[in-house]
Amino acid sequence: MTPHPNPYTHALDQLRNAIDHLPHSAGVMRVYTQLCNPDRVIQVHFPVTMDSGDIHYFEGYRVQYNNTLGPYKGGIRFHSQVDIDEVKALAFWMTIKCAVINLPMGGGKGGVVVDPKKLSKNELERLSKAYIRAIAPTIGSTRDIPAPDVNTNATIMSWMMKEYKHLVRKKSIHDDHPMATFTGKHLQDHGSLGREAATGKGGAIVLGEILRLSNIKPRTLTAAIQGYGNVGYYTAKFLTEMGIRVIAVSDSRGAVVVPNGINPDLTLQCKHQHGTISGCYCTGSVCNLKNGKSINPEDIITLPVDILVPAALEGVITATSAKQIKARYILEMANGPTTPEGELVLHKRDTIIIPDVLANAGGVTVSCFEWMQNMTNQRWSEEKVFRKLRTKLISATRQIYTLAQMQQTSLREAAFALALTHLAQK
Ligand code: NAD
Repeated sequence: MTPHPNPYTHALDQLRNAIDHLPHSAGVMRVYTQLCNPDRVIQVHFPVTMDSGDIHYFEGYRVQYNNTLGPYKGGIRFHSQVDIDEVKALAFWMTIKCAVINLPMGGGKGGVVVDPKKLSKNELERLSKAYIRAIAPTIGSTRDIPAPDVNTNATIMSWMMKEYKHLVRKKSIHDDHPMATFTGKHLQDHGSLGREAATGKGGAIVLGEILRLSNIKPRTLTAAIQGYGNVGYYTAKFLTEMGIRVIAVSDSRGAVVVPNGINPDLTLQCKHQHGTISGCYCTGSVCNLKNGKSINPEDIITLPVDILVPAALEGVITATSAKQIKARYILEMANGPTTPEGELVLHKRDTIIIPDVLANAGGVTVSCFEWMQNMTNQRWSEEKVFRKLRTKLISATRQIYTLAQMQQTSLREAAFALALTHLAQK
């Protein structure tokens, strides 16, 4: 899977396209001008002591894109191919996403150029803490609030929060609510119930509502999911609960097709045991070689399914791969999986793209709930978290669906229009 050459160009193309479909009021043009550039780009170069005793330097970024609606908010990605344009694009999409849902949050994103699979657990912990020491003066519970993204998780957020708290205790920085500076933390470290599952849960809520509005029964549908990390697994779990048959899943090393539909939990267990999803033919209550077959991970997006779910990296649906897609719906759980050229091809074939800024907004919505709980010393039940998540996502989905129908635009254009309107009203 070759990532799109420049995701930031892709993101700004989407912005220009959205502006072309909106009345050019003074407010909208002000927002457009603001969103053409990030507010701030932080680049750090920091030392980490490796297990061997050697010191290695790593490159990291934090992009604070826009804080019109509230503190900058966005995940931290650890990946060997992270670069500044990718982080800018992801921070831009966070700005749009928070505005779509009308959360009191702006957009930001962070990244470290590293292949975490090559580090020991202790090295990973030292790297996570060293990155936080490097960016600590620029983040904070009312300023910029990081969260997990690709290759980062609750354990890493908890390490980062503890390091940040340590700096606050030493008075190197001031923050009245240091634990609220990170979301996606472990429950025992002031994390929120429901946060881990939130992105996948949100995708299922949004898809369910679009299907309901289109009079389509989920039980008649099949899906293929690219990526089986946090987002891919939970999406598989909740789509399966809706009655959708998830017949194929992939990770960076392999892909399986299981015609009867996978068992998401057994598939995850098998992936953890073997280090890859390859060979994990788990259906019903068993994993068995007769249940399925392996395919090339690149081929997952061309399978004959009703719903294709990209849940790995950006730029995977290009003009070339789009021509081979057979799915009627694309549920964009990854950020930026469809290039503008790919989108043009899909548009001509009437494929319905449920855009990332809506489909995967469940994660930041529950991150915002975690932040609210931390700022007010509360703990909400999972039932309350999911009820509030559902209300937010159903409301945004209905507004976007109606706007798209009224103006004969794509769901993405409608989502951007809603976001820009919320930003312009501030
Ligand atoms: P993760 O690190 O938990 O999982 C990433 C998965 O993608 C892994 O299974 C990995 O093997 C797979 N992958 C990598 N390269 C691949 C390839 N070439 N082919 C197939 N699979 C490949 O990350 P995540 O948190 O699940 O994030 C996935 C996507 O969802 C990213 O685009 C991220 O920005 C987006 N997202 C995440 C959240 C969140 O809450 N974690 C929220 C919104 C959006």
